[in-house]
Amino acid sequence: MNKGLCVYPGSFDPITSGHLDIIERGAGIFEHVIVAVLHNPAKTGVFPIEQRLDMLRRACGHLPNVSFDCFDGLLVDYMRKKQAHVVLRGLRAVTDFENEFQMAQLNRQMAPEVETLFLMTAPEHAYVSSSAVREIGQFGGDITPLVPACIADDVIRALKR
Ligand code: ADP
Repeated sequence: MNKGLCVYPGSFDPITSGHLDIIERGAGIFEHVIVAVLHNPAKTGVFPIEQRLDMLRRACGHLPNVSFDCFDGLLVDYMRKKQAHVVLRGLRAVTDFENEFQMAQLNRQMAPEVETLFLMTAPEHAYVSSSAVREIGQFGGDITPLVPACIADDVIRALKR
């Protein structure tokens, strides 16, 4: 198992400034971070997987030890396939806690060798979420403070359609 490798899984529909903060901090702790977009066939999301990956790549262009992938099925199977030790997740308010707690316990039961590590959100990103970006953007509101600057125009254009 590669102890220096962590996987940051999520929907990233689209990447927000809160996600980018977690990725940058993870890249400062681990030798390598894989940002893994969950491809859930039952939940197609708003942005196609390829576009989510493209936006992630552009927003993280300054981070040489971060790579990008997508996966379906169980996260623990993906972790084993990648020989990765740590799942990285972000925590915002208490509302995140319950879901994250349950997921971490279930993953632990299925794969005790995998650890879930939580990074607390930076206060300036505590209210940032992909769903807020989608809702505000669809009604023409200003999403520029909520997403990485280099992808803001693409997100605005895609949501207006
Ligand atoms: P998921 O659908 O798996 O929750 P998301 O893309 O919404 O995927 O989020 C991925 C991870 O990033 C989750 O652990 C979530 O709590 C965390 N996260 C999302 N937004 C923020 C933020 N603003 N600050 C810190 N962590 C965040």
